[in-house]
Amino acid sequence: MSYVLARRELRTPKMLEELGLRVEASRLRAILGDFAFYLNSGRFKVLRLRRGYIEAIVRGFHGEWHTRVDIIGRTFVCSCPHHRFRKALCKHVLLLLELYAFLRNEPRDIELVRRFLEAYAERIF
Ligand SMILES: [Zn+2]
Repeated sequence: MSYVLARRELRTPKMLEELGLRVEASRLRAILGDFAFYLNSGRFKVLRLRRGYIEAIVRGFHGEWHTRVDIIGRTFVCSCPHHRFRKALCKHVLLLLELYAFLRNEPRDIELVRRFLEAYAERIF
């Protein structure tokens, strides 16, 4: 018998690296490094999850944000200031993409996330 590890490699940093976004990769890693922490401390409250769509409340350090990502329709909304005022693809959207990949974990779903990131590569942060 051996110990079971719940650790799994993050999907989105690798995808962005493959898209050639090496400059942002270290920053992205720092943000997504929080993913396991958010997950394990119950900071995601999933409101809706279906193929190509995820909606959740993300409890951050400065508030609770309502984040929706239509991965197929390629739109996203987040109630955080970073998104509301700068229309940025914020940390919460990235966290939800990672969460979607984590929960669904099917090759076709991973491919949807990859295409979404490809379409928005210029607007991250
Ligand atoms: Zn946000």
